[in-house]
Amino acid sequence: MLGCCCPEAEPNAIPRLIQAEIVVIPDRMMKHPRPSSYTGSMSIVGNISAIAKGMSITFREIFEPTQVENYPDGPGPMRGAKFQPRFRGAHVLQRDENGMEKCVACYLCAAACPSNCIYIEAAENTDAVRISSSERYAKVYNIDYNRCIFCGYCVEACPTDAITHGHGFELATLNATNLVMRKEDMLVPVQALTAGR
Ligand code: SF4
Ligand code: SF4
Repeated sequence: MLGCCCPEAEPNAIPRLIQAEIVVIPDRMMKHPRPSSYTGSMSIVGNISAIAKGMSITFREIFEPTQVENYPDGPGPMRGAKFQPRFRGAHVLQRDENGMEKCVACYLCAAACPSNCIYIEAAENTDAVRISSSERYAKVYNIDYNRCIFCGYCVEACPTDAITHGHGFELATLNATNLVMRKEDMLVPVQALTAGR
């Protein structure tokens, strides 16, 4: 038997879910329904107006100068490619003003990475061999670009600004193993620091 689950309800009460589906149509709408030709003609006028508006933009753009980036045949090291300043490309491992590596192998970037694509092996600095200004440095620092999603979380997590995003974007390859970048691939060369002085 179909009925309400509430114990106080009357035996023949209509269940609440069924009540919600009953639509009351006012008498005046039944007597004076809106003519369908009216809505149809308004819809045609609206469509014509939208098409005219769209075509006006198209014709206006036809006479504007063409703007394209001449990549890869453009000038300069970027071969014509242009980037917004915040473009997140391949990572760069930075050095400090003394040429030391900024990475201190704290693993915070690897912990923050949602793709788990950063692999680090730490080593101790010694008096004879000093790579970074702290106790430790990254002996191995790999990023697997097969998995990196360029989210920038590693850059945000780094306490020493050792890892940043560069503008490198030509990463495509047919060999997936080429997409595992090593520290040597990402580290700023010492010559780049001295060249700027
Ligand atoms: S950009 Fe994102 S996915 Fe790529 S290495 Fe950094 S944290 Fe991981
Ligand atoms: S890059 Fe930054 S966060 Fe990552 S291990 Fe080095 S110092 Fe730590």
